[in-house]
Amino acid sequence: MADIEQQDRKGKLARPSSISEGVYDRIYERIMALEIAPGARIPIDALARDLNVSQTPVREALSMLEREGLVRKAHLIGYSAAPQLTRKEFDDLYTFRLLLEPEAARLACRNMTPEALARLETDAADMGRGEPPVDRNSRYSRFARADAQFHDDILAIGGNQVIRQALADQHVHLHIFRLMFHSRVTQEALEEHERLLVAFREGDPEAAHQAMYDHIDRSRARLLLAYE
Ligand SMILES: [Zn+2]
Repeated sequence: MADIEQQDRKGKLARPSSISEGVYDRIYERIMALEIAPGARIPIDALARDLNVSQTPVREALSMLEREGLVRKAHLIGYSAAPQLTRKEFDDLYTFRLLLEPEAARLACRNMTPEALARLETDAADMGRGEPPVDRNSRYSRFARADAQFHDDILAIGGNQVIRQALADQHVHLHIFRLMFHSRVTQEALEEHERLLVAFREGDPEAAHQAMYDHIDRSRARLLLAYE
């Protein structure tokens, strides 16, 4: 049920447009920037005071973040930030991605339309755009979201709902971007995305498969630094 809600929201490209959205963004950024450490408790009253809002929007935002896998709720304890991936979980996750995402890129290439390609180009441009150089944290989490969108759009265009849902269930990007906060950022990833786009533009499914494989493999190598 939660998964269906999530897909609906993704489809509409929006979170509920209530006052909780600004609160959601601020908590999201703190979690992604590790200002709220992995595993740390998130006391609602203190957070509400800190953000200068009432507890209601904080509760709403935390419940959205819980559906996205970024926070957990435990009986009698309340909310805490999701723990960082262990090295084993990280290895398992990347093995899983390497099995599924290159194939999804090949399928997407076969299904590509001018409209779908335009959507991917927009996603990629969103990531590349430095935008007003806001503080490092919010630029970072914007990148995280845009990358998640790019990858999910490829899965959607590929059209295999089992693959798409299996990856969505892992909340891949939310986890890896917390790791990535400690490592080299993004320019390399942008170039790897561009190689994928070239394959899509040229309608070359095998090149798309290879470009996605290489992108994920290199992403794994970049993120491994976080464990050193
Ligand atoms: Zn990517």
